[in-house]
Amino acid sequence: MLVVRGGTVVDPIGSRAADVRIDGERIVEVGPELDASGAEVLDAGGALVIPGAIDVHTHFDLPVGAVRSADDFESGTIAAACGGTTCVIDFAGAGREPPVEALRTWHEKARGRAAIDYGFHLTVTEVPEDPAEAGARFRWFVSEGVTSVKLYLAYPERLMVDAATLRRALVAATAAGVLVCVHAEDGLEADRRTAELLAAGRAEPAALSLARPPEIEAAAVRAAAGLAAEVGAPLYVVHLSSAAGLEAVREARAAGANVLAETCPQYLFLTADRLEGPPDEAAGFVCVPPLRADADREALWRALGSGELQAVSTDHCPFTRADRRRGTRTGAGRWSAFTEIPGGLPGVETRLSLVFQGVRDGRLTPERWVELTSTAPARLFGLADRKGSISPGMDADIVVFDPAATKRLDARSLHMRTDHSPYADLTVTGWPAATISRGRVVALGGEPAAGLGGRGRFMARTASGPSGGRPPAGSQTGTSNG
Ligand SMILES: [Zn+2]
Repeated sequence: MLVVRGGTVVDPIGSRAADVRIDGERIVEVGPELDASGAEVLDAGGALVIPGAIDVHTHFDLPVGAVRSADDFESGTIAAACGGTTCVIDFAGAGREPPVEALRTWHEKARGRAAIDYGFHLTVTEVPEDPAEAGARFRWFVSEGVTSVKLYLAYPERLMVDAATLRRALVAATAAGVLVCVHAEDGLEADRRTAELLAAGRAEPAALSLARPPEIEAAAVRAAAGLAAEVGAPLYVVHLSSAAGLEAVREARAAGANVLAETCPQYLFLTADRLEGPPDEAAGFVCVPPLRADADREALWRALGSGELQAVSTDHCPFTRADRRRGTRTGAGRWSAFTEIPGGLPGVETRLSLVFQGVRDGRLTPERWVELTSTAPARLFGLADRKGSISPGMDADIVVFDPAATKRLDARSLHMRTDHSPYADLTVTGWPAATISRGRVVALGGEPAAGLGGRGRFMARTASGPSGGRPPAGSQTGTSNG
């Protein structure tokens, strides 16, 4: 028995002074001045007590050409716990391998290593033309506890799907209770622009902004949302990065499409001028979609406050300086163009606090902060029966968040397995004092407890989507619990 005493419980319902009693792995009681006799007491000391954060967009142990993302499931989930995240959903699949193989590989990567609970999305690169076969495949995903998939509209050579494939996926997924996520960039246009830039001798990191401008994000959002509306499917846009992309989301909604969208801290805090420094330094800011302008940042913050964006995830995909220099091309030894710099930033440890800066700036209410980082991700991705709120019966995934603690976000004070931080010059106010995962304290004062590897469990998820995890009416999908 553990009682978290003397905190302010914050969830989307509101904020109130309350204690939280935990028995084993579950929350059993929430209320003022609970009797703590016989229980271990964790004194929250007036701090905020919130549901553990959920990051629905990570890439642990992901091979990218000649290199691989620096965090594996052990280091990545330990870093997550230090920053107040108690569940991640990682993207299974590295390319066009069959889903059975992708899922088996990702289970092997995570099993016995993860410190906190985890789930998987599957990356889908092909969908059977026969509707019965397509339906069976998506029902199999659900039976495996995977109730969301991602399709790429970019990267023609590795991952991109055409409109017909996306349409088949939307139909089959929605019938099965699977939420379709898209990486929304017009990949053919990005490749055309890239070829033009390289031919003109523009190989430096800053050219990335010209190769992948906001218009190609907006165009892909429009195309995907149009298809989704046509077949009556919801659509979740990952890592929305620009005001133009946001405008495309608004237009699609006005036209009746059910579009959900997330953004990531890098698009809220960093801008494209970071790509203009010395090449090796600029390389540390390469991600896709690329960093944008200040006006884009502002538009995204406003959309978080207004409810136009549903969640903040990270797209956590860190690399070491050495791997960034080496580049993705096998045998190259060093990148020679921006296209060969492995793209992705560290983020799984810093998201909860970075979004909290929006509370400090008056852009978000504390309740909205919790909604964006925990409750909505749980609801949209089929975890709401166990996670995302502080109430009896839920997993005891709890963060005691000290709103006054300060932390400099340089690589040395963080636990992600990389030697550089895109936020190295930033000191945040507000950091987890304690992170509890299914009843166990896994981090204290931003430092991990010992012996965490392997205690995280695979979360077989129930139906995902805007209906909040209920399978669509009339569907035969099985649900399982893990
Ligand atoms: Zn990603």
